[in-house]
Amino acid sequence: MAGLKFKHIYKVYQGGVRAVNDFNLEIKDKAFVVLVGPSGCGKSTTLRMVAGLESITSGQLFIDDVMVNDVESKNRDIAMVFQSYALYPHMTVFQNMGFGLKLRHEKPEVIKEKVNAAAEILEISDLLDRKPKELSGGQRQRVALGRAIVREPNVFLLDEPLSNLDAKLRVQMRTEITKLHEKLQTTFIYVTHDQTEAMTMGDVIVVMNKGYIQQADAPVTLFEDPANLFVATFLGSPQMNIIKSSLKKEGNKIGVVLENVESNVVWLREETVKQIVNSGIDLEKQYLFGIRPDQITIADKGVPAHVEVVEQLGDETIIYAKIEGHEKNVVVKAPLLSHIKSQDDIFLNFSNERVYLFDEESEHSLIGMPSFSKLPCEVNKNGEVKLGKQVLQFDEEYMSHLVDEAFEGTKLLTIKPEHVLLEAQEGSLPVDVKVDFIEERTNYDIVYAVVEGITPYLIFRASKERKIKKNDKLVVYLPLDNTYIYDDKENSLVAREVAYPNKAICKLSTLKDGKRQIEISKGEKLVYDELPYQDGEYQFVLKQDKVEVVFDKKTAKYLINGPKVQFVGVGGGTKRRRSKVAAHMKAVEAAKKERDLIKEQYNVQAGEILVSAPKGKFLTVSCYDEEPQKDVNYVYAQIKGFDEYVTLAVKNNFSVYKMPKFKIVVPDDGFELLPLE
Ligand code: ADP
Ligand code: MG
Repeated sequence: MAGLKFKHIYKVYQGGVRAVNDFNLEIKDKAFVVLVGPSGCGKSTTLRMVAGLESITSGQLFIDDVMVNDVESKNRDIAMVFQSYALYPHMTVFQNMGFGLKLRHEKPEVIKEKVNAAAEILEISDLLDRKPKELSGGQRQRVALGRAIVREPNVFLLDEPLSNLDAKLRVQMRTEITKLHEKLQTTFIYVTHDQTEAMTMGDVIVVMNKGYIQQADAPVTLFEDPANLFVATFLGSPQMNIIKSSLKKEGNKIGVVLENVESNVVWLREETVKQIVNSGIDLEKQYLFGIRPDQITIADKGVPAHVEVVEQLGDETIIYAKIEGHEKNVVVKAPLLSHIKSQDDIFLNFSNERVYLFDEESEHSLIGMPSFSKLPCEVNKNGEVKLGKQVLQFDEEYMSHLVDEAFEGTKLLTIKPEHVLLEAQEGSLPVDVKVDFIEERTNYDIVYAVVEGITPYLIFRASKERKIKKNDKLVVYLPLDNTYIYDDKENSLVAREVAYPNKAICKLSTLKDGKRQIEISKGEKLVYDELPYQDGEYQFVLKQDKVEVVFDKKTAKYLINGPKVQFVGVGGGTKRRRSKVAAHMKAVEAAKKERDLIKEQYNVQAGEILVSAPKGKFLTVSCYDEEPQKDVNYVYAQIKGFDEYVTLAVKNNFSVYKMPKFKIVVPDDGFELLPLE
């Protein structure tokens, strides 16, 4: 039995592949959590980091509040079950199941007892004398599970354990594993690429894509309130319809106009309109309209469509219909409709009850429960936060993580709806709100509340028992460890590490030619034409966000062009030649993939990269960690002569994993000289 906490976990493989990025998750003791996502999204890597089979590049992993980053696999009390059962062919089922215990020098009678108990749970008691080859796929998988059970682990990790089974057996084993979880009362982390498996098995589903968590929540919540287009289309069968659309405003009303269907407007509910306005969107832009197949009905009038395929599934009918001028068919899921035939001309009615709207570029959802509430605020150096007419107070610990930029101008206080509390808790900030309206969901109500003096809503989840109503006045609490300060580009201004003030002792002197030289304690020198200070000793304060990274030539080339592929000479007989050509093609393919990844992750343009530093304007830096944000990267580094490590906010095209030692250019507004303390 154990709970797990993932804090800002990254995995960067050698060569720079970022397999897992900023993975944050709390798994409750005894939970059944499913990691789901397409192949290559980082599921197995995450699981292997939990098992201790793969090192954690940065961030922290806690099992039962103990940080286990450096705890060896065998001491983590974890059992893992793989897709390939990895049974020893020469051993019987009994020996296979007991082998781990034998290695740990358990007594034979203890082994026997534990294996028998596990066999009973899995209903394989009568198979204990057989060898793996005498078993069916399902039975083998059970033995693999049994081998994990006898170890009585605190956490069960299962990596696509059912992928090798045929469809029918898979469905059966699903229920078996769910039952097993109930019997064992242990934490399960289950990996699959199959959305149906995920939806039917997990208490919590973590949807991943390209190394990032897209959303983590209860299955029904992911279905009702997908955070983005990826989650919306990944879960649900048939898939959500996604249709290019524009918006139409008439008085207070807003409607959706499907591409090439001007005659028919889907007018939105008043509450939906408020949500759209709250997300601050441009009404002139194009959006992606989302509607699930069961929210479209066949009607006497509406959007004309032509039926291409009809699937009768017994209790329901799936209709694939073409709307003129649309690339993709619209999918309609209806109760049994026997009269609709392929090639019929029909009319579609789009309900406005459960609709979605996604930004074409960011693909974020603009309706429903947002990922974050974002409230404009101002923070001063004393930690006072002005939020509308209220003033909140950050504590010192929180303040020590804010980067310089947090204190300039209007910022955004952000919090996820599920983190807002209705009861006071230590380390939380009270905020007075008034409820504007409520949206009901299966598991809870979403409350849209107003903070006096601020336009955007503070949005939170409330249990249905609370029976919160329109116009209620209440106090909600924002727990500091889940409250962030963002800039307007969605970069968090709360660094993971303490953001020390980047201080060093320095000596300012005037050179023969009149130029001014700053000498930092251990010999690094910066030279400027003019500086508004008198010669003498000062504290040098390096600003976090004003420096620029100088790349070495090799890294610059790599970031612009990707890895270089060496051509392997093609000689020898035909067979050898063929395999060499194949190897070369494979290397080219891999390089191309890597290049696309670099493009996507760093988005580097040749012109953005500095490859040489102007004389006397740079410092040399050694880096040990980074924290990529939306478009900046917080870099934690060492510079000779500085009191503590320094925190720098550099462009996101730089990664310390590509170049751990580098120079930074310090412009003359990149620092301040303060009197010695
Ligand atoms: P999933 O289990 O979701 O299919 P993985 O965690 O296996 O994904 O892989 C995530 C990414 O990391 C992929 O791009 C994969 O190619 C890469 N990767 C996995 N293992 C390694 C490794 N040992 N070395 C380098 N890259 C790896
Ligand atoms: Mg995998």
